[in-house]
Amino acid sequence: MTNPLKKIWLSPPHMSGKEQMYIDDAFNSNWIAPLGPNVDAFEDAIADYVGLSHAAALSSGTAALHIGLKLLNVQPGDLVICQSMTFVASANPILYCGAIPVFVDSESDTWNMCPDAMEEAIRAATKGTLKHADGSRIPAKKPKAIIPVHLYGMPAKINDIKAIADTYDIPILEDAADSLGSSVDGKKCGSFGDLSVISFNGNKIITTSGGGALLSNKKSTIQYARNLASQARDESLYYQHSSIGYNYRMSNVLAGIGRAQLTVLNERIRQRRANFEKYIAFFANYPGIESTLEKNGMLSNRWLSSFTFNPKQLSGVDSKAIIEALNKSNIEARPFWKPMHLQPLFKNAPYVGADIAEHTFIRGVCLPSGSALNDNDFDRIFSTLQTILNY
Ligand SMILES: *Cc1c(COP(=O)(O)O)cnc(C)c1O
Repeated sequence: MTNPLKKIWLSPPHMSGKEQMYIDDAFNSNWIAPLGPNVDAFEDAIADYVGLSHAAALSSGTAALHIGLKLLNVQPGDLVICQSMTFVASANPILYCGAIPVFVDSESDTWNMCPDAMEEAIRAATKGTLKHADGSRIPAKKPKAIIPVHLYGMPAKINDIKAIADTYDIPILEDAADSLGSSVDGKKCGSFGDLSVISFNGNKIITTSGGGALLSNKKSTIQYARNLASQARDESLYYQHSSIGYNYRMSNVLAGIGRAQLTVLNERIRQRRANFEKYIAFFANYPGIESTLEKNGMLSNRWLSSFTFNPKQLSGVDSKAIIEALNKSNIEARPFWKPMHLQPLFKNAPYVGADIAEHTFIRGVCLPSGSALNDNDFDRIFSTLQTILNY
């Protein structure tokens, strides 16, 4: 049976209308290649927006994280600290490098990496007291990199994280995949790390269909990233190669979509933030429903409107019941990302912290957050939520 109601998606692409023009440019000039004028212009525009000097446009955010770890010289057996509550794409590249992820708990204000737990992880790793989940000890080693995430657009306590990372002299690979346009004290997410990553996947705040970028203030670093992402060819007339390369560059056709999308990014942020305010107003009548708050100069792009539901304060209604009720009304809602230290893939990985990530995950629901949601959509979402929350 088909549901007669139009599907309300979690976070669908939202075109500006100008994308086709840039795509036509690529076709008319026959730049149907993983390079070209759209890529160059998109790289400049994205670096400029984030407030850095250089960007490499790549095939995905995951590819950007992989190249980022390569640039930080992450080798097999190295330790890389990573936020546990995140999308698996933050952590998979650690495995691509043969390194060991050290997962760290969240704090309850932003749901992102807890700076205290992070410092504990650095100390344990350096002292040789860090353990795999099966109890086996990991030989003393200073972590090679730290991957904090700005989950669902909400900035992490990145200044605290950076101060600790600086103290121990460990570089930060900032996963800003979700948080294009978010900021702390006016400084954009993606500009705090030694290297940073943005994603333009189809469900992100702006999209190139699929794509990502690696950013840095160092020209030579980004030039090297572009080289690694195009099979690491040596400077030579011949096809000569001295190191392992990848085929990770962004297509000039897709970069055209990105150029048009960037022109409406600030509008998309306004629209997503307005969605969040509507949910906040609606949930004000209910106890036990919480989200992250913008404190200490933080501004979230509110990529996904995400809330935790405490069944003890909601007559037993839990996140699963909410998701099921919405899905039944043809409204897409999703659980939070299951923390990495609870994943079968990472079952033996070391973990530092308590159970904040786990509790947040259990209670969390991502609600429809698209920038084209209209009043009718919200009427449907709220009437469904009302029915389940009032029973
Ligand atoms: C989307 C996402 C990525 C990966 O981006 P892709 O472009 O899909 O490869 C990485 N980290 C986080 C937190 C993400 O949400």
